[in-house]
Amino acid sequence: MGEEKRQISVGQFKDMMDLLAPCMDDYLYVFDIKNDIYCISPNALERFVIPSSQFSEVTKTLRQFIHPDDFAMVDDDIARIMRKEKAFHNLQYRWLDRSGKAIWINCRGRVLFGEDGEPEILAGCINEIGMKQKADNVSGLLGESSLKSQVKTLYDKNVKGFMLRLGIDDFKEINENRGMKYGDMILHKTAECIASAITPEQKLYKIVADEFAVVDVSGGDAGDARALYKRIRRVIDSFIETNGYEVFYTLSAGILEFDKIENHTYYNMMKWSEFALNTAKNSGKNKCCVYDVEAYETFLRRRSLVHKMRQAVNNNFEGFEAYYQPIIDIREGRLASAETLLRFRTEEFGMVSPVEFIPLLEESGLIIPVGRWVLRQAMAACSEVRRTLPDFRISVNLSYIQVLKSNVLAEILAGMEEYRLQPGSIVIELTESGFLEADDNFIGFCAGLRENGILLALDDFGTGYSNFHYLYNLSPNTIKIDRSFTLKALSNDYEFNLLQHMVDMTHDIDLKLCIEGIETQQELERINRMGPDYIQGYYFGKPCAFEQFLEAHICRS
Ligand code: C2E
Ligand code: MG
Ligand code: MG
Repeated sequence: MGEEKRQISVGQFKDMMDLLAPCMDDYLYVFDIKNDIYCISPNALERFVIPSSQFSEVTKTLRQFIHPDDFAMVDDDIARIMRKEKAFHNLQYRWLDRSGKAIWINCRGRVLFGEDGEPEILAGCINEIGMKQKADNVSGLLGESSLKSQVKTLYDKNVKGFMLRLGIDDFKEINENRGMKYGDMILHKTAECIASAITPEQKLYKIVADEFAVVDVSGGDAGDARALYKRIRRVIDSFIETNGYEVFYTLSAGILEFDKIENHTYYNMMKWSEFALNTAKNSGKNKCCVYDVEAYETFLRRRSLVHKMRQAVNNNFEGFEAYYQPIIDIREGRLASAETLLRFRTEEFGMVSPVEFIPLLEESGLIIPVGRWVLRQAMAACSEVRRTLPDFRISVNLSYIQVLKSNVLAEILAGMEEYRLQPGSIVIELTESGFLEADDNFIGFCAGLRENGILLALDDFGTGYSNFHYLYNLSPNTIKIDRSFTLKALSNDYEFNLLQHMVDMTHDIDLKLCIEGIETQQELERINRMGPDYIQGYYFGKPCAFEQFLEAHICRS
């Protein structure tokens, strides 16, 4: 064992460490064994739960940031150094980071011996085993940890410039169809194409699987970033062409302008640039989007709403409420039915509009349990009202997701039996916008409604998708004219005539027609002249909770 005598002091070691620490990602340390003092580069304190860059009672203090399962291994190694059994320390074990997570490290160090031949100093270097590679060998570019180092230099500085985050669209398919090797070639070529389009001041990095980042700190703005994106696409298009269209692929991008954001931490910058890139991908790919704070806040609000709604579903639907709005049979001048309209309320968001939360329920699939719950609420309400008004009907809005992805017809039939509801007491409202003519589930559902005497209303009629063909295919019992159409008809002769024709035509083919959105006596009088069957609107009552609905619209003995 070649023992080495100490030639430099602990103080000198420490000075050298402080000098070198800013130049490295690793952590230097010196353990003054004789005086039981340990010094470590200050950058280690940002990462691990180390109490101070210099501490005493070393074996005891080390326990504050070494994973408990590794105590014995470290103690044993130190004891062997003390017994002069080894002069080199090389151990892989775990330290705890600031969030308490175990991080694998490799600690290497040399033992230096004093004049008396006793071990005096252990000095060396610690590195994180799992640290991302500095460079990506497939693309030949610098990797994420290098990007992190550059971004770190931007913290709290008023830098003008941008990050252009680029992602290959559907890269997974290239890998699946052509194999990983071909995928690697595409990554490499794409890297070359991007590198050839940037200026010498711009830096290019390879980040996650199929993404690249260009950082510009030379004063560029979103316009420059867009121009760079276009340049890159042109280079890639010409690569695809010279490659004989062996493979065709596109590239999307997210742009982050440094002077439009605050708090330039690496974490934030990656999060925001990823959001911008995802926005580009979600809006059709092969395009670039600039990071927009408001859009990001909307995204966060939606995410939080979905989270709250999921909690509500798991908490007996607390926060959801079924409201009811009267629908008047205008020829007989009496209450015919009510439409069930879902509400969602939380402390944080207050009352949220279904226009906002229904699409979120649909995207997340939560519309299936929530829709089932609304259906049962509506049936229970209908059964109660029918004790006073025997021919009262209840309307329930159904989403296409419920029709296509759950057995909603069976649920309706089971509910009708449970609540002893006659055929004709339930009206299902479907909007024409999601209608899928060719879908067997859908056709089967509509046929099932007819067979069981469940009525069908085509909602939102006149809002853009109107196709008279649907009337034949769906054969609804009623069509409902949306408030936006009603408003236009009330303010414009052409639309008024159009609506009049629609009422007449509906009657010619033996359908009923309901006009929505009547708010005033005056509106009622004009619309009434057209001869609709039903009217729904604030004039007769706003949607309200069931108890209020009973009080306002049902005279109970
Ligand atoms: P919709 O089915 O067309 O419902 C009619 C909407 O018009 C309701 O809005 C109602 O409050 C509103 N409205 C009725 N009369 C008037 C009026 O005189 N003036 C004004 N300004 N508005 C009036 P709401 O409750 O906000 O619901 C919006 C949409 O959300 C509904 O449109 C429906 O498409 C959807 N929705 C609501 N509840 C459910 C549900 O339980 N399931 C599904 N799938 N969709 C639902
Ligand atoms: Mg409706
Ligand atoms: Mg409607």
